[in-house]
Amino acid sequence: MRVPQVFIETFGCQMNEYDTELVRAILKARGYGFTDSADTADVVLLNTCAIRENAHNKVYGHLGLLKPLKKERGLVIGVLGCMAQNLKQDILAGDTLIDVLVGPDSYRALPDLLERAAAGLKGMVVDLSEYETYADIVPDRIEGVTAWIAVMRGCDNFCTFCVVPYTRGRERSRDLTGIVREAEALAASGCKQVTLLGQNVNSYQDDSHDFADLLLAVADIQGIERVRFTSPHPKDFPDKLLEAVAGHPKICKHIHLPLQAGNDRILRLMNRTYTRAEYLALVDRIRHRCPAIVLTTDIIAGFCSETDAEFAETYDLVRRVEYHSAYIFKYSERKNTIAARKFADDVPDAIKAERVARLVELQWGISLKKNRALIGQVVEVLVEGDGKRADQWRGRTDGNIVTVFPKIADGIKSGSLIAVRITDATVTTLYAEAV
Ligand code: SAM
Ligand code: SF4
Repeated sequence: MRVPQVFIETFGCQMNEYDTELVRAILKARGYGFTDSADTADVVLLNTCAIRENAHNKVYGHLGLLKPLKKERGLVIGVLGCMAQNLKQDILAGDTLIDVLVGPDSYRALPDLLERAAAGLKGMVVDLSEYETYADIVPDRIEGVTAWIAVMRGCDNFCTFCVVPYTRGRERSRDLTGIVREAEALAASGCKQVTLLGQNVNSYQDDSHDFADLLLAVADIQGIERVRFTSPHPKDFPDKLLEAVAGHPKICKHIHLPLQAGNDRILRLMNRTYTRAEYLALVDRIRHRCPAIVLTTDIIAGFCSETDAEFAETYDLVRRVEYHSAYIFKYSERKNTIAARKFADDVPDAIKAERVARLVELQWGISLKKNRALIGQVVEVLVEGDGKRADQWRGRTDGNIVTVFPKIADGIKSGSLIAVRITDATVTTLYAEAV
């Protein structure tokens, strides 16, 4: 019998990339094969993101492209992940293209739903769970030198702008022993870097083990050379965690510290639970304990009722902290969130766009200055593979900055940790030579 072929397209964050690996494992166990194009697939799955409106629009755009294939040869189409969870029946009712809808806590139901869909029956499972962590499923990874492990799922913070608590449900952590076993298996298969993932990764808790315990346990595994984590929340940074980051040579000196806004009234409206002063004090504490740290951030411009003066405080904070890089977003109202229910999305789009542009310009200047300051220095790079050009290697510094260098020296391969001297820099990339 011919093995049905599945093509999965993934949108959004690293957690979605990880979930796609889980979905592949679940489908593989039920006899499905995989293909890398919709043209050769029997089933196309879109693993979606709901975080901002443009994420939605991208998925609708892709669904439009699948229409002729569906007509031609009765392709089965599934929408997985956050958008499925958030839109539920709306999608099934509004778009006859879609056969199957599965939320992030219901991937185990997918094989049955696909079988029914092949027989012409549409279906959806979008239940949220307080327990599902997929801890027993080994993700079907593309083997390489880096890997992700989701250590917790969901979020209980309810930032007023954010849809994650509704699409991914309550916070829950996997047990530490299982995670360590998974990382040991990765190390045995040649993986050098593990990134611990969670919507709110540093609120990880397994009985008496907190996130610092987990980081240290993974960093101590023989063969693992680097451990990263994302995304932490600024509210959960006890000294013990900073000690772990600063003190363990294998824990990368990079912290992504989402700010969102630099004004106290806006932070309160967002329910971020810290003030501007508390956030700045945390930055000082991190830099004091770990001067080599590379800080990056997320910012939302144009949140409900944000005035020019309030935005100016965000701008000022970015200038003061001097992040190495930043993701800067226009506020995008999301269905069901507290902000959508309680506040007016009243900052005109043109003003949101202008605030984003001003922050991006400021940040690019800072990023370029910081990268150029590295010229002449020798840094350690983990080689991840070929650069855009086949005669170049591409890797990352400990601080997560992309670094490219010519393939001149022998003995270097993907997974090598090698010293390079920085020779040039742009806003996003360091250029180097092996030393
Ligand atoms: N858990 C992380 C935290 O606490 O910051 C963030 C996870 S979220 C998937 C990634 C980023 O998307 C957020 O930090 C925020 O900047 C952005 N984001 C979330 N909701 C948004 C919205 N409604 N409009 C614009 N950006 C949004
Ligand atoms: Fe969303 Fe806030 Fe949870 Fe981050 S902490 S996922 S921004 S609700």
